[in-house]
Order: sequence, then structure tokens, then C-alpha cells
Amino acid sequence: MAATERLVIIGGDAAGMSAASQARRMKGPDELEIVAFERGHFSSFSACGIPYWVSGDVGERDELIARTPQEHRKRAIDLRMRTEVTEIDVTGSRVHTRDVETGADSWTGYDKLVIATGARPIRPPLPGIDAPGVHGVQTLDDGQALLDTLARTEGRRAVVIGAGYIGVEMAEALLKHGYEVTIVNRSEQPMATLDPDMGRLVHEALSSMGITTVSGTAVTGIATGDDGRVRAVTTDDAEYPADVVVLGIGVEPETTLARAAGLPLGRHGGLLTDLAMRVRGHGNIWAGGDCVEVLDLVSGRERHIALGTHANKHGQIIGANAGGGYGTFPGVVGTAVSKVCELEIARTGLREKDARAVGLRYVTATIESTSRAGYFPGAAPMTVKMLAERRTGRLLGVQIVGREGAGKRVDIAAVALTAGMTVEQMTALDLGYAPPFSPVWDPVLVAARKATAAVRKAGM
Ligand SMILES: Cc1cc2nc3c(=O)[nH]c(=O)nc-3n(C[C@H](O)[C@H](O)[C@H](O)COP(=O)(O)OP(=O)(O)OC[C@H]3O[C@@H](n4cnc5c(N)ncnc54)[C@H](O)[C@@H]3O)c2cc1C
Repeated sequence: MAATERLVIIGGDAAGMSAASQARRMKGPDELEIVAFERGHFSSFSACGIPYWVSGDVGERDELIARTPQEHRKRAIDLRMRTEVTEIDVTGSRVHTRDVETGADSWTGYDKLVIATGARPIRPPLPGIDAPGVHGVQTLDDGQALLDTLARTEGRRAVVIGAGYIGVEMAEALLKHGYEVTIVNRSEQPMATLDPDMGRLVHEALSSMGITTVSGTAVTGIATGDDGRVRAVTTDDAEYPADVVVLGIGVEPETTLARAAGLPLGRHGGLLTDLAMRVRGHGNIWAGGDCVEVLDLVSGRERHIALGTHANKHGQIIGANAGGGYGTFPGVVGTAVSKVCELEIARTGLREKDARAVGLRYVTATIESTSRAGYFPGAAPMTVKMLAERRTGRLLGVQIVGREGAGKRVDIAAVALTAGMTVEQMTALDLGYAPPFSPVWDPVLVAARKATAAVRKAGM
């Protein structure tokens, strides 16, 4: 029996294929035909794993592939690889596609459409940016190209442009290949998703690992040698020799198709959706993953946060809805965790500048503690910074920098933020305790106690 409806998906990675898989769980092929278009070489791969593949922690590229195109096809999802969608005709309910290899083009009609086109890396038009030896790390092809360069390169100096989480993770990977690593970074401190006082701790830890961080400096170009290959990264006042350069400057939503189709975009350039991830004003079009803006539940503002954790959830909700079920995505609290060598870096909620930007008055508390009972072998130091709203004491944000066991503690704060808890309520949280896992007062609770005192002291 022919399917009664066709679901078309643009983008074959986290959001798109999660949507496809969930929709298929909801409806069989006799009811719903699912056609997905992916312009790249891979489906359902973990870009998050690229730094660890490049570093050698993960041995094989294919370990990063959660589901191959063949596996998707076995589940009656018609995934068409190397096929780019070049236009969405909203009025005609159809998409125009072009085969990347042959150039053959055609139109495919849809009853329901999912846009899951992800984000594109920011690549400023700097002189020399396309020179051999300069690498992005967005796709598995990028990762392979970088590994090929590392295998071929005689030199030993690497520059990473950008000190966000991808920049610092890549710095670790290059360090593991024996490179002298310099990170050049425009913000005041590395990890601009933290407050500068916490970013300073990251800076110090990076230097203790032998990574040089140059902050508050914009790159002006990439100098090349006689062979045309990268030779150095230049700024206004210095030149940093480089045999290989990795770009970690950030991403922006890939919404070229959506913009051309007249779909609603927000102030960060991402698609705007309702809680069911339906594109606002369009009953049969959904969007999710890095191409959308999300509601920040703490600030009440729309933000663009490109994270796989959101993309997978979006996809699942979209698939449920497109498959005739029901699901909603309420928003995010802005939780992220990363590591560079043994240093763990985590954040959730608002930084001081985010709180100020939305007019929230706040107090801060910063504490030093350890990952285990102080007397237990392996106890490692960590710093926890907490923001609470003045007067109400509502938790607004937490940042953690420390060694093993520090990073995932941020999840306690993520739950407290989601539940709208005050820092005083947090002090009574019944968290697990035994000396190998934490001091009797967990560092997050110590910070909550200090923040509670700060709220009381601040009064109104
Ligand atoms: C190096 C790195 C490390 C990361 N680490 C983490 C981490 O630790 N934790 C975390 O939560 N997130 C991490 N992320 C982010 C995470 O990978 C992304 O948020 C996630 O992949 C987004 O999924 P998506 O499906 O929205 O977009 P994408 O994964 O970008 O997929 C979109 C797909 O759409 C395809 N596409 C786009 N336009 C078209 C078109 N017109 N026609 C056909 N196909 C199209 C693209 O080729 C792409 O395959 C990392 C990202 C990188 C690059």
C-alpha cells in the first residue's frame, strides 16, 4: 500500500535523523514515507567526538558514526546522500534538490517538512584563510583533512584561532600530537561563555599545560610561505609562527534556504519555532538543532546555542509531532561542559553580563573546594562561582573550573535552575556523599551556602 503522507527532511545529522527515527517509530512506511536529504558524506555522526578522534583518544573515524545511511535505509528511511536542497518552495510544498556529484536536479513534494540544516562555521574573509594548513573541524571530512596535514607536516607549531570550547579541545588534541600550541583569542579571557574571573583560571591552567593564550587580540590575517602553505598567524602587533592553524571561531545558524523561503528568523539569524518546534506561522514545517533559536528559561530571551544535546532532543520532539504524536521543547538553561587535558570547565545559566543585560540584580559567591574529601587520595581542587538574584535568592547561574569530577557537577545546578530553586533551597539538597566522591559538603552546596549569605547581606 502506498504511504499516505510524505515527510521530507533537510539535513542528515543529529536533529534531522533523530526526527526521522522518531517519526518512523510513530508510523510505519505504509502510513508515512520519510525522505531525508544530506549534502555531505556522512549521516548521524558525532562532531562532538572530532577533537578526541584528532587527539587519538578515539581510534577510528567510524566510531563517531552512530548510524550509517544503510542502517537508516533498513529502517525504511529514504536517506539520499550527497544531495543538496537548493530551494524550499513553501507555497508549492516542495523542495528543489541537486545531486552534488552529478549536478542532476529535481523537485520533491512534501506534506510535512523538517529543516535541520545545522550551523556553518564562521570563517572571516581574512587574507590567507584558505591556505593549505588552515583547518576547520566541523565535519568528519574536516577532521580527516586535519589528521592528514598533521601526518605530513614537519613543523611543530600550531595556532588555534578562538578560545571557546572547540578551540581549547583542539588545543589539547594538538598538544597530544607534540605541537607547541598558541591560542589567539579576541575575548578578554579564554572561554567567553564564563565570566572573565573564571576565564582567568582557564588561562592559568592552559599556561601550566604549556599552551600559550593570547587574549583580547583579533587576527588580521594568515601569512603564507613561498610554497603557499600557512607560515604564521598575524595580529595588529605580532606574528605567531604556525605550521598548522585550526579555526574555532564559532558558528552561525545555516538558514540560507529558510531565509530565501521567507521563513521567520530571529535576531541571531536562527529559525523561530513554537514549543512544538514548528516554524512559527507554518503548520507543516518544523525546524530544530543548530539552525534554530531557543528560549533561554533564565533570561526569557531567545538565544542561538549550537549544541548536540539540544539538536537530538529537538529531533526527537519533531519526529513525535510529525509522526502524529505530541511533544514540546520548553527551552534551555544554557548548560555546557568541556575539558582541556585534565581541566574541566562547565557553566549553566547566566553570566554576570547576561544578568545585567536583562536587568536582573544579583549577588555572586565564589568558593574553592575539592572533588573528594580533602583527605581522600586524588582530591582535586575546584572553583565554583554562583550567581543568585538579589532579594529573591533565585539561582541564576553557576560556573565551575576544576580537575576530574568538577565538570558534571554543573548538572546539579542545571536541575536547580530548571526547577526555579533559590540558593537557600539548594543548600538542603540531598546529594550523595562518600569520601571518594565529594567532601561532606559538596562544592556546589558550599557555593549555595555562600550565595545564601550574600543574598541575606545584600537585602533588597
Ligand atoms: C568540533 C565540535 C565539537 C563539538 N562538541 C560538542 C559537545 O561536546 N557537546 C555538544 O552538545 N555539542 C557539541 N558540538 C555541537 C554539535 O555537534 C552540534 O550542535 C550538532 O551536530 C548539531 O546538529 P544538527 O543536526 O542541528 O546540525 P549538523 O550536525 O550541522 O547537521 C546538519 C546537516 O545538514 C546538512 N545540510 C545543511 N544544509 C543542507 C542542504 N541545503 N541540503 C542538504 N543537506 C544540508 C549538513 O551537511 C549537515 O550534515 C560540537 C561541534 C563540533 C564541530
